[in-house]
Amino acid sequence: MIIAIDGPAGSGKSTIAKNTAHKLGFRYLDTGAMYRAIAVRARDLGIDFDDGEQLCVIACNEPIEFGFSDDEPLPSRVFIAQKEVTDEIRRPEIDKAVSPVSAHRSVRKALVDQQRKISQLGDYVVEGRDIGTVVFPDAPVKIFLTANAEERARRRTAQNLERDIDSSYEGVLQDLRARDQYDSSRAVSPLVAADDAVTLDSTMMTIDYVTNLIVELARQAQASE
Ligand code: C5P
Repeated sequence: MIIAIDGPAGSGKSTIAKNTAHKLGFRYLDTGAMYRAIAVRARDLGIDFDDGEQLCVIACNEPIEFGFSDDEPLPSRVFIAQKEVTDEIRRPEIDKAVSPVSAHRSVRKALVDQQRKISQLGDYVVEGRDIGTVVFPDAPVKIFLTANAEERARRRTAQNLERDIDSSYEGVLQDLRARDQYDSSRAVSPLVAADDAVTLDSTMMTIDYVTNLIVELARQAQASE
């Protein structure tokens, strides 16, 4: 079974998706990390983020791999071209580069193919922007997770601090708004809720509350399978 969790940056998707996977014993796929890995690789090779053809050469030929770290039950390490990019993909310059990179149709096609292949391995919680609309339109549980921009910026700034990434609340808020705008208005697979998604506004909800809600929806879907 696939549980699709989509939503804008900072909505709590990653934490909630991981907790849900952990509670249900499902695997977990972070598709944002895949687009980020392409952006890192392009930067390292000196490829322009607008050069769809060259970006596609990376996305089509260099599969992204996930690995486990000792202290986490779900995969949290990211590799491309045999190089670990786990920390690099979270850097502020990659936050800025990833939206233009992910807007290329050819890059999306290559990564969607990889995402569908990976998810054949079993039950998955998959998080991203187009999981319920494009990657798995038949997923039995689809969640669209939102929160207001100020709360999302506050959460992301705190997360950056934990990761030792230098950032200011104002800078993060500006970046989130720019990314929301870019992701929601692009021509290919824009960030929108699927018609049959359950929309949850997490601004005033705790991580545990939202996780339990999704676990309950998944159990109901399992029971009716
Ligand atoms: O989820 P995360 O913030 O790491 O995603 C980074 C970026 O990757 C998003 O802002 C979006 O541009 C892109 N993305 C996407 N489709 C997905 C997942 C992420 O376009 N399924």
